[in-house]
Amino acid sequence: MSSTIEKFGENVFSMRVMREHLAEATVKSLEATIKIGKNLNAGVADEVAEAMKEWAIAKGATHFTHWFQPLTGSTAEKHDSFIIPDGEGSVVCKFSGAELIQGEPDASSFPSGGLRATFEARGYTGWDPSSPAFIKDNTLCIPTVFCGYHGEALDKKTPLLRSMKALNEQSCRLAKLFGIEVQQRAFATLGSEQEYFLVDEEYYNARLDLQQTGRTLFGSAPAKHQQLEDHYFGAIKTRVLAFMEDLDTELWRIGIPSKTRHNEVCPAQFEIAPFFQELNLAVDQSMMTMEVLRKTAERHGLVCLLHEKPYAGVNGSGKHNNWSLCGPDGKNWLSPGDNPHENAKFMTVICALIKAVDTHADLLRASVATAGNDHRLGANEAPPAIISVFLGDQLTDIVEQIEKGPANSSRQGGVIHLGVDTLPILPRGNTDRNRTSPFAFTGNKFEFRAVGSNQNPAGANVVLNTIVAEAFDEICTKLEADVAAGKAFNEALQKLLSGIIKKHKRILFNGDNYTDEWAAEAEKRGLPNVKKTLDALKAYTGSKAIELFRKYGVLSEKELHSRYEIYKEAYEKTIEIEANTALTMAKTMIIPAVMTAQAELAVSVKSIDAVGGTTVGAKASLKGMCAETEKLYKAVAALEKANGAEKQIAAMSKVRASVDALEKIVPEDFWPLPSYAEMMFMM
Ligand code: ADP
Ligand code: MG
Repeated sequence: MSSTIEKFGENVFSMRVMREHLAEATVKSLEATIKIGKNLNAGVADEVAEAMKEWAIAKGATHFTHWFQPLTGSTAEKHDSFIIPDGEGSVVCKFSGAELIQGEPDASSFPSGGLRATFEARGYTGWDPSSPAFIKDNTLCIPTVFCGYHGEALDKKTPLLRSMKALNEQSCRLAKLFGIEVQQRAFATLGSEQEYFLVDEEYYNARLDLQQTGRTLFGSAPAKHQQLEDHYFGAIKTRVLAFMEDLDTELWRIGIPSKTRHNEVCPAQFEIAPFFQELNLAVDQSMMTMEVLRKTAERHGLVCLLHEKPYAGVNGSGKHNNWSLCGPDGKNWLSPGDNPHENAKFMTVICALIKAVDTHADLLRASVATAGNDHRLGANEAPPAIISVFLGDQLTDIVEQIEKGPANSSRQGGVIHLGVDTLPILPRGNTDRNRTSPFAFTGNKFEFRAVGSNQNPAGANVVLNTIVAEAFDEICTKLEADVAAGKAFNEALQKLLSGIIKKHKRILFNGDNYTDEWAAEAEKRGLPNVKKTLDALKAYTGSKAIELFRKYGVLSEKELHSRYEIYKEAYEKTIEIEANTALTMAKTMIIPAVMTAQAELAVSVKSIDAVGGTTVGAKASLKGMCAETEKLYKAVAALEKANGAEKQIAAMSKVRASVDALEKIVPEDFWPLPSYAEMMFMM
C-alpha cells in the first residue's frame, strides 16, 4: 500500500482508535450515543478524555480546543495546553471529562444577532461525540456546538443536529408504515463537491482587492479563457498536481476521504470531491477541507480562492451539495429498489422531496444567499436563482403516470400501481444529467448546486432536512389516518402521491435553466425568482418559516430573527468593504498610474510635434484616455457618496467599467495590477 494511503485517518480519534484505547463497555456506551443518539453517560466522559489526551500527546499534541462553527461562516478555536505545573519545576498533563464536554469561550466577539444581551456574554461549547476529534497543528480539535446561556443556538452545528433529529423521527414513522424494521438512526448523507481557484501568491500580493475581498474588483477576461473548454478534465499542470497530492495527504491524515480531483471549466479553477459521509461529519469535514486547501496552497506559493466569483466574465465556484437519506434500515432511500414494495417507498420519498422543495423554495434560496453567491445565482451561469427540480425523462414519466392515478386501471394507459407494478429500470449514475438545474436527481441522490463555494454547507442542509421532515410528517399523518380507517395501503398511497404531484408539479423542470424562456415560464408557474440576497433572506422571518422551524424544534422565532440580522449585516459589511477597497485602489493605484501614462504620452506627442512628425493617432488615443479618466473621477466621486448596499453596488460597477476600459488602452508597463491573463494562466 502506498505510504500516503496508509496515513489515512492517522490523526483522527476514530472508532477504530477508541476500540484500541478504551474499555469495551465505554466504547459500547459511546457507540449508543453516536449511532442511536442516547444521552452520554457522565462517567464515560472522564475515561474518554483521558484516552484522547494520551493518544493526542503520543502524536505530539500539546493543546486541545473546542472547535466550532460560529455564525461568521468560518470556524473558531481557542487553544488550551494540557500542562499544569507540578510545583517541582516540571509539568503534568491533564484533560478531564468536564473539559471535554463543555467549554466556556467568551462569546461577546461572535455575532449573536441580538440574541445575547451583553450582560450575558457567556457562550458555551458542547462536545458533539458524533463527529470524531482530530489533531491539527499539534492541537486536539474537539468538534462542538456553540450556544448561549439559555441554550440559544449561536452556531451552524446546533440547528443541523436538531434538523437531523427531526428527519430521523419522521423517517422512522415512514419506515413503520412501509413495514420496515428500524435498526438504526436514519440520517442524511452528504457529498460536498468543492470548486476553487488557485493563483500565484505573487499576483495575489499585488491585488489589494483579492486580499481584502477575496475577489477581483477590476479586470476583464482575456481573449482566450474558457471558450475552448480545453481546461475541463485536462491534464493537470505539474505545480498544481504537486499541490493536489499534498492536499490529499493532509486531508487523508485527518480522515477526510477526498476522492476526486480535476481541472474545472475555467483556467485556474479546480474541484475536489470527497466520498460521501453522514451529514454532520461531512459538514465538519467540508469546513476543514477549506482550511486545508488554503494552508496547503500557501506551502506551494499559491493562494486558494474560495470566493464564489473571483473573476468577472468566467465561471464562478460552487459547492455542489449531494444529499441523500440513509433510512433506519441502513439503505439509501433515494435509490430505486428491486421490487414493487421498495419502489413504492422510493416514489414516496421522491414525491416528498418534490412537495418539500416546491413548498419551501424560498427557504432553499435564502440558505444560499450571500454577497458572493449573488454573482452566480441570478447571473448568467450555474445555477439560476429560480429553484426547480430536475428528475430526468424516465423518472418524470413515472411521476406523470402516478399523477394520472389509480382511476385508470389498465397498464396500457401508462398507469403505475404503486406497490404492485415494477418500475421501469431507472438510469443509475451519471447518464442522464442536466448541469443547469439547481436541484437535480442524479440516480441515487439529489444535487443542490446553488450552495456557494465559500459557504458553510450546514445552512442549506438544515433547510433540506427540515422541509423533508415536514413532508414526511404530512404524508405519514394522512397515511396513518387512512390505514386506521381501514383503507388499503397501496391505494391510499397512490391517491396521496397523485395529489402531491398535481399540486407541486410546477417545480419540475428538465430543460435548460439558463434560458430567458425558462425565466418567463417559471414566472407563469408562480415560482419565485429572487435575485438578490437582501430579498432572499426575508424568507427566514416569514410566518411559514417560523412555523416550520418551530414545529420541528430546529430554530425558534428568536433564533431565526437573529440569523436574519447576522446574515443581512454580513452582506452589508461585505459590500461596504468592497466599495472602500474599490475606492482605495482607484484613487491610489489606478488614477495615479493612468495620469503618469498620460503625462508621458503628452510629452511624446509634444516632442514629435516639435519635429513636425504626425501625431493624429497618438492625440486621439491620449484624448480617449483623458476622457475615460474624467469618467473615472466622476464615478469615484459618486461611489464616495453612495450609501447603502444597493447604491454602492451600482456605483462600483461604474467605477469598474471605467477602470476596465482604461486597462485596455493604458500601456501595460504603467498598469499597477496583474492582469486576468497573468493570474489565470501563469502558474
Ligand atoms: P459530479 O461532479 O458529476 O457531480 P462527483 O463524482 O464529482 O460527481 O460527485 C458526486 C458526489 O456525490 C460525491 O461526493 C459522492 O460521494 C456523492 N454521493 C454519492 N452517493 C451519495 C449519497 N448516497 N449521498 C450523498 N452523496 C453521495
Ligand atoms: Mg456535481
